[in-house]
Amino acid sequence: LSGMPWDKFQAMSLEEKGRRLASAARLFHVLYAQQFGRAELDRLGSLATTIRFVAKTEGGARFLHDLLPHRRAMLYFSQPSTRTFLSFCAACEILGLGIGEVRDTATSSEFKGESKEDSVRTFSSYFDLIVMRTPMGGLAERMAWILSNSDRPVPIINAGSGKDQHPTQALLDVYTLQRSFERRGGIDGKRIVFVGDLARGRTVRSLAYLLTNYSDVDLWFVAPPQLQIGADILEQLDRHGVKYTLTDDLHGAIPGADAIYMTRVQDEWDSEAGESARIDTSRFCLLSKDLDRMKDDAVIMHPLPRRNEIPTEVDTDPRAVYWRQMRNGMWIRSALIASQFGQDDRIREYAAEHKLHPVS
Ligand code: ASP
Repeated sequence: LSGMPWDKFQAMSLEEKGRRLASAARLFHVLYAQQFGRAELDRLGSLATTIRFVAKTEGGARFLHDLLPHRRAMLYFSQPSTRTFLSFCAACEILGLGIGEVRDTATSSEFKGESKEDSVRTFSSYFDLIVMRTPMGGLAERMAWILSNSDRPVPIINAGSGKDQHPTQALLDVYTLQRSFERRGGIDGKRIVFVGDLARGRTVRSLAYLLTNYSDVDLWFVAPPQLQIGADILEQLDRHGVKYTLTDDLHGAIPGADAIYMTRVQDEWDSEAGESARIDTSRFCLLSKDLDRMKDDAVIMHPLPRRNEIPTEVDTDPRAVYWRQMRNGMWIRSALIASQFGQDDRIREYAAEHKLHPVS
């Protein structure tokens, strides 16, 4: 992004922006789902698996921990987070990076009126990577542009921006799908059914886009009409020739699904109090009695946190993979950071030398 005027960058489509980021010699900023193509998704998934196997052995864990002790990451989370925050902490610890954090801007100089731009420039003075989550759509992109055009161009990872994007969640979701369908021919040709608040769920928006990298996928969006997926996502699916169905009939969607991706109502985005509460979402829950109607080898996913859309009785069903999905976040985020700092080859070489799976 360096040398490119902000207005020109802003005027580009998301896909153009994604291509621009993807053209860098190695992964730097992580801002949008649109920057990841199939080859990169395969590479990151395989690196995450390699890290997972290396981290299991004592020597391997030490090796990983010695990779980046000279680097520090700033976790700037001005919006609530449990899993994304903690899995980034864990990923940094696995690779030996030191960590700093601001989770509440009331405790930082933003409270004294400092702009977000100045805050992020400050972080870049002390840290080598900034992972940020904000309620403001587009802020991570703006910060990345500012830093790329400064004398300390440190990478930014978008850990969730507004209602719009959550690219690292989408990466862990794809990794979960890759693992789930490993012995069933991969993600190609699978039917993925998204359920819940698809209008405001940023994880669905980012994942739907990533799935355009696979052939013959069939996406179903199951939601009450007020919470149905946005036209901008459907346009992107159309452009990539991805098949999709919009419906409010979860019952009818269950038997054909290879993966059911549940989401909660995102009522923090209500424009007036009680807006979501007036929508009947009771038909968008996956109950124990629905399990018999699912394929035996289908999987149930959820980005979490959940509310009542998946009762806890479902957790013991072997097809419920949301806890594994959550742990996959730690591995894929480790793979991302290792790639940003150019450590991927060293990790692969270590795994090959020590005959740790996979050795590709
Ligand atoms: N944890 C996810 C997110 O940050 C999903 C959610 O909050 O519903 O978007």
